[in-house]
Amino acid sequence: MSDPLTIAIPQVQVPSHPSWPPLTPAEQGELKARIKSLLEARDAVLVAHYYTDGDLQELAEETGGYVADSLEMARFGSESPASTLVVCGVRFMGETAKILNPEKRVLMPDLAATCSLDESCPADLFGAFRDQHPDHVAVVYANTSAAVKARSDWVVTSSIALPVVEYLHAQGRKILWAPDKHLGHYVERVTGAEMLLWPGACVVHEEFKGFALDRLRRLHPQAAVLVHPESPDEVVDQADVVGSTTQLIKAVLEMPNPEFIVATDEGIFWKMHQLAPDKKLIAAPTAGVGATCESCAHCPWMAMNALQNLEQALLRGAPEIYIDPAIRARARLPIQRMLDFARERGIGGRKSLPVAVAPG
Ligand code: SF4
Repeated sequence: MSDPLTIAIPQVQVPSHPSWPPLTPAEQGELKARIKSLLEARDAVLVAHYYTDGDLQELAEETGGYVADSLEMARFGSESPASTLVVCGVRFMGETAKILNPEKRVLMPDLAATCSLDESCPADLFGAFRDQHPDHVAVVYANTSAAVKARSDWVVTSSIALPVVEYLHAQGRKILWAPDKHLGHYVERVTGAEMLLWPGACVVHEEFKGFALDRLRRLHPQAAVLVHPESPDEVVDQADVVGSTTQLIKAVLEMPNPEFIVATDEGIFWKMHQLAPDKKLIAAPTAGVGATCESCAHCPWMAMNALQNLEQALLRGAPEIYIDPAIRARARLPIQRMLDFARERGIGGRKSLPVAVAPG
């Protein structure tokens, strides 16, 4: 297995979790009602990621919007007839929506909501590295800027990374992978592909701890362990299921276990509880003690999305996503390649998603 590259990537500044003023149930109900009216008035639809606050996910579903992983969020934006997409998630998700729907207005509650993977992979550094390896096919994770996507051959999400790399490996292609080294390691291990790994990491998933997970599993012998592949090997190796957010939710629905230990952002619990209220969900242990933003299993950038700034975005028609048209056009190619690949092979879709099985 290859080691991650020794590239001097930028030190990522992790923000503190924002603290929104508490709302009484009555205030929250009024705020939601105002947002519903604004969505209608603006011909807007709400698209939320599983890691956002449960109130936002609930509101998206109540108003004809959608809650999904980044692959399905991208697809939904193109299918919706609404002229404005309001993306509750992180910036690359808003950019992807704009790349696929240049004629639509794309709003986000806060454009400062970014991602440690995106931040760790600036376009100039990635471009220079790519130029040094012209014999490799560049596969980048969706968690990258439009400018990095524009320098890539393929974009993948965690739902589709394995089949895309298997496909390229079968053609004898060598792969330059960016930016998540843990997901890259996992894909490399399962597929046997030859991969150069950018040394980025998700600050949330990297905090899950193998030794503490081992202890927790012993306390809950009936629990299945569900792990997102952005987690370190020591955690992935203890998984019963490794998969994308959608695949982990599907596992809770389909597996007979009464309990699940879940190693991904805790925002996913809202959807898991909604679909499987009888199952017990246990958060996988992080660094925990002395909890910092990086060790609470909730992404500080996802936490920048709230009902309050969602209302402001709809009132002001800002902040809006803008992307240079040349970058946008070039970035669309590897995203479209992924969407075409998924459609041709029946991967994903709203009704049926496969559950990836842990290696060995
Ligand atoms: S959870 Fe990790 S990968 Fe997802 S947006 Fe936050 S930092 Fe990025």
